[in-house]
Amino acid sequence: MPATAELERMLRAASLRVTRPRVAVLAAVHEHPHADTHSIIGVVREELGAVSQQAVYDVLRALTDARLVRCIHPPDSVARYESRVGDNHHHLVCRSCGAIADVDCAVGSAPCLTAADHHGYAIDEAEVIYRGVCPNCSTRNARVHP
Ligand SMILES: [Zn+2]
Ligand SMILES: [Zn+2]
Repeated sequence: MPATAELERMLRAASLRVTRPRVAVLAAVHEHPHADTHSIIGVVREELGAVSQQAVYDVLRALTDARLVRCIHPPDSVARYESRVGDNHHHLVCRSCGAIADVDCAVGSAPCLTAADHHGYAIDEAEVIYRGVCPNCSTRNARVHP
């Protein structure tokens, strides 16, 4: 979890003005990887008190545009945000509870997968969602159905 000074430096390096909501949202995304907007708003309000939902949406958009955070859209889930932006990692999603875990690039660096047919596109990114059942859920299922 980066210190406030480090978060401010990241904002400045991305040519974003340093504001308390921006620092608080960036901190929340670092602290809670793959959090959805709703939980980020909760964390930011604990830190700053009253902040409008729209303000948090606007900050998330600015941070995403500046590539300080990455927005992912797992199937059957609302958008999630994470601070791990410097790579082309993928995600594991639990079918049962929706838990999300990071998976490193399938092979080497981005886009790490070769499309069977690139249709003339210059591909620079590949995103894979691995779906299955997380260890917590499989243990719980084993207990219910021995
Ligand atoms: Zn699960
Ligand atoms: Zn991730």
